[in-house]
Amino acid sequence: MNSLKNMFRPTKPISKNVSFKPDELISNSQKLMLELGIIRQSANGLYHLLPLAQRSLDKLIFIINKNMMDIGAQKISMPVLIHSNLWKKTGRLNKNIEDLYLVNDRKSKEFLLSPTHEEVVTDLFSSDPKTYKQLPLMLYQVGTKFRDEIRPKLGIIRSKEFLMKDLYSFDRDQTSATFTYNKVCQAYEKIFKHIGVKFIRVEGASGMMGGNQSHEFHYPAEVGDDTLLQCKKCGFGMNKEMSPESVQCPKCSSTDIEFTKAIEVGHTFHLGTFYSSALSATYSDTDGTMKPPYMCSYGLGVSRIIGASVECLSTQDVIQWPRSISPFTICIIPAKEGSIEENASLNNVHSLYNHFTEIFGDDIIVDDRTHMTIGKRLIEAKKLGFPFVVVMGKKMNETPSLYELYEANTNKSEHYELSNLINYLKQQCLDKI
Ligand SMILES: [Zn+2]
Repeated sequence: MNSLKNMFRPTKPISKNVSFKPDELISNSQKLMLELGIIRQSANGLYHLLPLAQRSLDKLIFIINKNMMDIGAQKISMPVLIHSNLWKKTGRLNKNIEDLYLVNDRKSKEFLLSPTHEEVVTDLFSSDPKTYKQLPLMLYQVGTKFRDEIRPKLGIIRSKEFLMKDLYSFDRDQTSATFTYNKVCQAYEKIFKHIGVKFIRVEGASGMMGGNQSHEFHYPAEVGDDTLLQCKKCGFGMNKEMSPESVQCPKCSSTDIEFTKAIEVGHTFHLGTFYSSALSATYSDTDGTMKPPYMCSYGLGVSRIIGASVECLSTQDVIQWPRSISPFTICIIPAKEGSIEENASLNNVHSLYNHFTEIFGDDIIVDDRTHMTIGKRLIEAKKLGFPFVVVMGKKMNETPSLYELYEANTNKSEHYELSNLINYLKQQCLDKI
């Protein structure tokens, strides 16, 4: 049984040996997630994901994997330590050195803690000769990335170590690559729609990737570092970085532009043959000639999506998760020890849990801290943002027993008999879990 009583959820926001300046607590999601024991700071810009955050993350990764399988992308894991020679070959080591973590091994060989894997995956591709018949090839991973942020902030939204889903595609030529690029972008749109937080896709700046075309996925949020320009006339959107001066739409010349602060949660790039040429990756084409494959890369900020969606949906003191990645969909609150409804509650809680488990799998948690009043636990369940809370209160003593169901998105409670409760929850949840 998933139990809140046994859950590791330290709720004091500051651990003893960490210097934590209160002025860093600038975002709502960061404050709530720390206070409620969902994340915990390890050091400046470094966070533990505690059991509730980890469950949310696992759900998100499940959604990502499913959509990647649908388009034929193959999941791998690449090393986090990257030999710096690979980055010397592409010239990237000189360009962005201040953001990188460089480490030496005992033989003084230099490594990077992976910020991104273009070089590594291209080297992997080149290690085994390919023919045009094996293309397009899409390889992805969900892995740890590092960035030496000058000013990490917003908790897991901008940290020094984070989880990314990064995908790399190899195609014969630009036409075929554009087809693959669009296919992956559509899969990304599906992932974001499934998560359920409003997102915006705009033309992006290519930055350190060096390609010639890119798109970004953003969650609109006041605390975001990016500013998006969206044309109200034709709908074209771009990152302000692309044209810091212009207040005119590059597509239709309209000056009716809307500015939105946002958090970047995904980025896709056309890379061309920059990496394949630099690292001598080739495939043999139909006529037998060896050519560098045309590459694209695609990133999703996995841990950032968790923080950013909580940031977008929550209020000052209550977390709201997107239903799709809520750590648990249903929380059960049995009666307090010694209360008049305790017997009825005790008789029913296990069968309720088992009924639910048959239908909703392990997506249920019981707040079995029965030394606490129902009221106190309900307040906490609301704060934690469980979409549905089933309370076994006074009406358990009626015949038949009545269960109180609280719904987070309507902020309302209703009483149900068991069979009606199950039917209602089935209706509300099954297609969305
Ligand atoms: Zn326009």
